[in-house]
Amino acid sequence: MFDSLTKRLNRAFKNISGKGKLTEKNMDEMLKEVRMSLLEADVNYRVVKDFIETIKEQALGQKVYDALDPAQMVLKIVRDELTNLLGSTTAEINYKEDGITTIMMVGLQGTGKTTASAKIANLMSKKQDRKVLLAACDVIRPAAIEQLQTLGKQIDVEVYTEGVQVDALTTAKNALAYAKANGYDTVLFDTAGRLHVDEELMKELEKIKKAVKPSDILLTVDAMTGQDIVNVAESFNEKLDVTGLVLTKLDGDARGGGILSVRAITHVPVKFVGTGEKIEDLDVFHPDRMAERILGMGDLLTLLEQAEEKMDLDAAEESSRRMMEGKFDLNDMLVQLEQINKMGSLSKIMKLVPGMGQMMESIDDMKADDQMKHTKAMIQSMTKFERENPDQIRSSRKRRIANGSGHSVGDVNKLLTQFEKSKKMMTMMARMSQQGQAPDMAA
Ligand code: GDP
Repeated sequence: MFDSLTKRLNRAFKNISGKGKLTEKNMDEMLKEVRMSLLEADVNYRVVKDFIETIKEQALGQKVYDALDPAQMVLKIVRDELTNLLGSTTAEINYKEDGITTIMMVGLQGTGKTTASAKIANLMSKKQDRKVLLAACDVIRPAAIEQLQTLGKQIDVEVYTEGVQVDALTTAKNALAYAKANGYDTVLFDTAGRLHVDEELMKELEKIKKAVKPSDILLTVDAMTGQDIVNVAESFNEKLDVTGLVLTKLDGDARGGGILSVRAITHVPVKFVGTGEKIEDLDVFHPDRMAERILGMGDLLTLLEQAEEKMDLDAAEESSRRMMEGKFDLNDMLVQLEQINKMGSLSKIMKLVPGMGQMMESIDDMKADDQMKHTKAMIQSMTKFERENPDQIRSSRKRRIANGSGHSVGDVNKLLTQFEKSKKMMTMMARMSQQGQAPDMAA
């Protein structure tokens, strides 16, 4: 996500950090570099121009030239202005106090509208305890209804459909009546998309809008199409008054131009971002967290939220407790590997850790994933006794474990050596933290 932008921005800040007093010349060079990074990331030129001017004004106003640590101040100004650019505050869904909250999902074909409908339905029903109905109003793309039904089953949310014979408007009206009669509090309407914005589509959407009076109209836009999303958003907004954007496929967006331009130009807030193909790959959009992520400062809040959601915290806590007591064995290693697996790819996790984003470019997810699978397979081939007493694993046991898991004795040896090393390190860290000292990592 925005890897190249983050790298270039960091390079720009390096020019002024550690320089002591900031001169106007240093500042100008840095801003030139920031400007180039943003333009290269495909951010709209008007947005870039305003952004740089605001930074200049802020820098003058906050007297950075006289500051003790000007680089830190400038970085803070840039972070705050990036946050403003992304929308300042988190834009919430407009839930209705009484009656049914109706959300129309609109967007061009292939942008991820159907997937986003299911992701949002899942989030609302699982985390916000809402009773959600999905209405299949895309009667044009033949597979759309089936796709929604499959997703609905997967997330345990009912899908209302009357097939492709009934038009979208009738289906939408009937879905709303069905929701009222059956105690649903939220309906998400998955409407039809087209390859391009066209009159006929807009007319159909306007009719549905009139009939269901949506509390929100969410437009899905594909982050990978860069600045183009601004044009799409403007066309939809003109006809429909879109209330929020769902920026999909952010996982594949190396540049970030779309997300940085769209709010400033259209004034429509981003409400959610899609970060992968799986149902859970959806984040509520927080401008401040995103700004820090773009600047390579990580996003610990999101990491903690994801950990709480996806990990079995009791199991993780139990194994850390055992670790602190020096009782760490191969069972604990297996538990920890399984917990890490649940969080997703290693590089995705590390990018959320402050300062680790850049370092993690060298991680090959496929390799790391493979390594984890091999380690798990070997531990799973061990008996309970062996997992609890790795030091008792001698040659014949090693051969059996190797054969059972499809590895060589050398692999088993490597695993055991690695385990011994981590155990030593953990015991040391536990001792140090009890004594209130930082461990010497080089030992
Ligand atoms: P629709 O035509 O707009 O309804 O699009 P779909 O929901 O069918 O999605 C089109 C394709 O994009 C599918 O292959 C999805 O799996 C994929 N997709 C949707 N959202 C994301 C996302 O956030 N990240 C990635 N990598 N793929 C996504």
